[in-house]
Amino acid sequence: MDGEHVWLDQTVIIAGQRIRAIGPAARVNVPKDAKVIAGMGSFLIPGLADMHVHFTIPAVDSRFDTLNRAYALQLVAHGVTTVRNMRGFAELLEFRRRIASGDVLGPEIFTTGPGNNGDLEITPYDRKLDTEAQAIRAVQVDKVAGFDGIKVYGAITKGPYRALIAEARRISIPVYGHVPYAVGLNEVLAEHQASIEHLTGYLDALNSPDTGRTLRTSNVSALREYREDLLQDLAAATRVAGVWNCPTLVFLAAFSERCKGLPRIQFKFAEPPNCGGTLRSVSIGHSPRGSDDKPQVSPFAISIMRALHQNGARILAGTDADGTYVVHGSSIHQELESVVATGYSPYEALAAATSNAAEFLNRQEDAGTITVGKLANLVLLHGNPLLDIRYTNQRVGVMIRGQWYPQQQLDYLFAQALARTGPYDFYGNGHCARRILLEE
Ligand SMILES: [Zn+2]
Repeated sequence: MDGEHVWLDQTVIIAGQRIRAIGPAARVNVPKDAKVIAGMGSFLIPGLADMHVHFTIPAVDSRFDTLNRAYALQLVAHGVTTVRNMRGFAELLEFRRRIASGDVLGPEIFTTGPGNNGDLEITPYDRKLDTEAQAIRAVQVDKVAGFDGIKVYGAITKGPYRALIAEARRISIPVYGHVPYAVGLNEVLAEHQASIEHLTGYLDALNSPDTGRTLRTSNVSALREYREDLLQDLAAATRVAGVWNCPTLVFLAAFSERCKGLPRIQFKFAEPPNCGGTLRSVSIGHSPRGSDDKPQVSPFAISIMRALHQNGARILAGTDADGTYVVHGSSIHQELESVVATGYSPYEALAAATSNAAEFLNRQEDAGTITVGKLANLVLLHGNPLLDIRYTNQRVGVMIRGQWYPQQQLDYLFAQALARTGPYDFYGNGHCARRILLEE
């Protein structure tokens, strides 16, 4: 993943948790006592990173530990060896220690602290930030607690947002999340928020009063009305600002599918000025698969992705699994397919889930490519994913921190976990369902 190429007839030597050597099979000395995994005809890729997941929050479900162990297993069983959890809690920091120590099989977890939000869409388990002092305190508390980032949601207001992002910069902790309605895309880019989730903010920026148009985003034909030059400017500004997008196309599609057939939905909070009654950008998406069996992505999401691509703005692969009608593990493959469907090459999609993720997390010493010295988080595939991205979901097995799991073993472990938990609700806490209001 340091370039678009396939190295043929390679042998990779793993010692402990790391890659010790790589070279042509004919020349690499395989230690006599080595366990040999036959990879003939197979393709080795770095472990995948799902850069937007949710583990279950204790305040939402008392079975959180059982569910989270099942989720962790499910992720690894699908080749996901790294995740970024987007709404943290103290028990998750303990959970990731159990994974790191080998007690629990699961991916490496990076996590934000709790969500930071405002009045209009506050949930009981997020923080409501009313003042700048509260925002500064929240950043400090999360940093001290050991979280890796700060999460912002859509309803945080301008004052607390500015204080939060300034404090985060001061103490060197990244800010990830939605584009807050009151702040808007241009300021989020100017503040260099590290990542934007779900393509939030772009619609509203296109929908600004100076375009003289109101996008009726529930009306597909109206999606052609956006101004392409303005979208190109926003995408270029995104690249210049160094802000990453984690589009979560699979979530946008699932959310839309889930809401299909409802007479009219709108967020019960934060109807912003100038946007009377239109859907928020977060809820834009389309039915997951068309008659051609290709994942469907909304025309609007395709337009943004194309503009980001053309302007060299960076993307990550994330799914928003749990709480959002998206299943852990399998969804990363749907996401990669969706990214390809928006015009990215299979290599670029795969990079979003491997080398891009490592760069974004500042983990290039340990992850992102198959390189001597890096952690042995690897996935062995039955076919070449550069020819067809769907091969990422055709696995021989997964290696996580040097431990090899044949796919059959992972499937067996997962079946056992499911027998213990019983069939569980993949839709988790359903926080989005609570955030919409049926009208009419
Ligand atoms: Zn999320």
